[in-house]
Amino acid sequence: MKPSIIVHGGAWDIPDDLVEAHLKGCETAAERGYDGLVNGESAVQAVVEAVAVMEDDPVFDAGVGSFLNQSGQVELDAMVMEGSSLGSGAVGALQHMRNPIRIARKVLEDTSFSLLVGDGALRFAVEKGFEPCTEEDLLVGHQLEDYREFLRTGVLGTREFFEGGCDTVGACAIDTDGRVASATSTGGIPRKPAGRVGDSPLVGCGAYADDQAGAASATGWGEKIMAVLLAKTAIDALRLHGDPAEACTEAVTTMKSRVDGLGGIIMVDSKGTIGYHHNTPRMAFGFVEGKTGRRKKAIRA
Ligand code: ASP
Repeated sequence: MKPSIIVHGGAWDIPDDLVEAHLKGCETAAERGYDGLVNGESAVQAVVEAVAVMEDDPVFDAGVGSFLNQSGQVELDAMVMEGSSLGSGAVGALQHMRNPIRIARKVLEDTSFSLLVGDGALRFAVEKGFEPCTEEDLLVGHQLEDYREFLRTGVLGTREFFEGGCDTVGACAIDTDGRVASATSTGGIPRKPAGRVGDSPLVGCGAYADDQAGAASATGWGEKIMAVLLAKTAIDALRLHGDPAEACTEAVTTMKSRVDGLGGIIMVDSKGTIGYHHNTPRMAFGFVEGKTGRRKKAIRA
């Protein structure tokens, strides 16, 4: 069948001067994923590589470009899930790694576990041959300035941010064999407490994938996403209505009405149709829908 892929670069009030960079980053990641799919890559490979492209892009809060926590550290969450076996691999509060999504994939493929956190996740990554990096390797712009100031003074200044959202990244794909997968990666919300793990690495919250329905990846206010298992709720709505756009809208609407949550979700269904919805002012996304040839990058649904 014809493959499809959709990626997101976070749902929040993305400032005007960052719009272009977000659009470009989403387009590059979606095209990378789609090229791979067309050349026979699996959905898992395509979503992991699309997310890795965005982790390497300093404009997004994932990998390089992540936010500092309250203790002046970068702690990363990431997950990949594949829809044939409902298998998943994830890392939480992982430090000193540039591409947590690749480590999440190792958890999926090389272990019988689903989620490794903290020091154990770091040790696992090193055992698998991933090269540790420093905090400074992951920080850019204001976050890097704040970190250097923190090293000098021992004080981490506060910064104003939109409550609950940032530049988390994610991808959902269906490959030529009809297998779906989703991946999500984040530095989490700015100035989170050390050890805080958000929705992104939790099955059914930050992502879900089932070949019998479709794949979804979420972004936004993590604790609210967890409360309604946003990604699973969206896939359940898809099973009911059969329409990805409707399913995404229903899931986000449920999150708003039930827990006053803000965020967004992207989806590809088992027929290769793309869907997305958000209730934040903006959400960066990009997609290629193989069967229709539709290609889009946008900052607002
Ligand atoms: N959901 C992420 C978290 O709470 C943040 C985001 O999506 O922007 O860690």
